[in-house]
Amino acid sequence: MTSRLASHPEGVQHTRQRAWKRSVVNEIPLHHVFTYKEVDRAFWSEHLEDWVPARIIDAHVHVNDPRFQIETMTEEMRRSSWVSEVSDKCDAETAERCARITFPNREFTYVAFGHVDLGWEIEGSNEWLRIEGIKRGWHTLVVTRPSWVAEQVDWWLKKPGVIGVKPYYTLIGYANDWHTTHLESSIFDFLPHHQLELLNDREAWVTLHVPRAERLGHPDNQREVREIRRRYPKIKLVIAHYGRCYTLPHAEEGIVPLADDPGLYFDCSACLNPDVHYLALKHLGPERILYGTDNPVFYMRGRRQWKGRTYINRTNYPFFFNKEREAPEIEAKYTLYMYEALKAIRGACEKLGLGRDAVERIFYGNAGCMIEDILVKKGEQPASQTGRQA
Ligand SMILES: [Zn+2]
Repeated sequence: MTSRLASHPEGVQHTRQRAWKRSVVNEIPLHHVFTYKEVDRAFWSEHLEDWVPARIIDAHVHVNDPRFQIETMTEEMRRSSWVSEVSDKCDAETAERCARITFPNREFTYVAFGHVDLGWEIEGSNEWLRIEGIKRGWHTLVVTRPSWVAEQVDWWLKKPGVIGVKPYYTLIGYANDWHTTHLESSIFDFLPHHQLELLNDREAWVTLHVPRAERLGHPDNQREVREIRRRYPKIKLVIAHYGRCYTLPHAEEGIVPLADDPGLYFDCSACLNPDVHYLALKHLGPERILYGTDNPVFYMRGRRQWKGRTYINRTNYPFFFNKEREAPEIEAKYTLYMYEALKAIRGACEKLGLGRDAVERIFYGNAGCMIEDILVKKGEQPASQTGRQA
């Protein structure tokens, strides 16, 4: 590389160095390998600034401190899926700073939880995040083990700052290939009935990431979600990532059949697909959708493309999974995934002619009401009094 550069005429080399310096000077570090650049500022002002509401609750974010990772991450584990490769730990200070940068001049708060992975010390990281959350005006969901008795779940729910739980199928048992070993489990294998009974009594929030390769549309997922709603109707049940429906066929199979239950909520995190946002908004309405990012994953830069029931993540960082790169002039225009997602949500809202009230419900009102209900029942201060400017 050095010899190639040295062979350039001096003028060209200086121009390149100047351009490189200029781009680095204007780059602000976000998290991991991700940064905030001029292209992101321009995207925000062109597509989002006049539309994103003044108050925001990101109802799906992962925050953790690296000291709770008890397992050494190997290169093989890191490369086992694209999510593993991009979702490095993001501590509370970083999560707060990133929100301030990516949502300029907005009042911002999180519903945060740790890593849903037995390579992490679950209890310690739950407690650390709860305390960090209180300091920052966030609310937290505790990561729960399916083996816990109801009293253990209750012990957490009574703690200040905690509004509910985040169960996950990887917590069924340790596995090296965490994302496939327990994928075909029943929801009740990782969210057992004795915990659901307690959560129903406490009217707690549950963010449910559905299992199974067929996603929310799998008949067993449809049946089990309906069973939870029927038997435990006081739970504030939020289906994560629209039930992992990132493509239109998945959304048609997964979301539409559950549209008839007005008490079932969805978070729209990790979805970039304008057609899915449109379909979800059309069938569920703005009163049942909660804004969320799934950060730190959505600080990734690039775009997603869909074909039938599959998608490809385009990004400019040389991750192991990133085999099919686009042309440099296209990559140069990439912005953050979370900004592409916001633009897609905006497009869907505008296509449906939704007013400001509806948009504000998605970004703040729906989650805010749910949090307030839970806090009132617990005898805690409502979020609006503790939340602070990000
Ligand atoms: Zn997530």
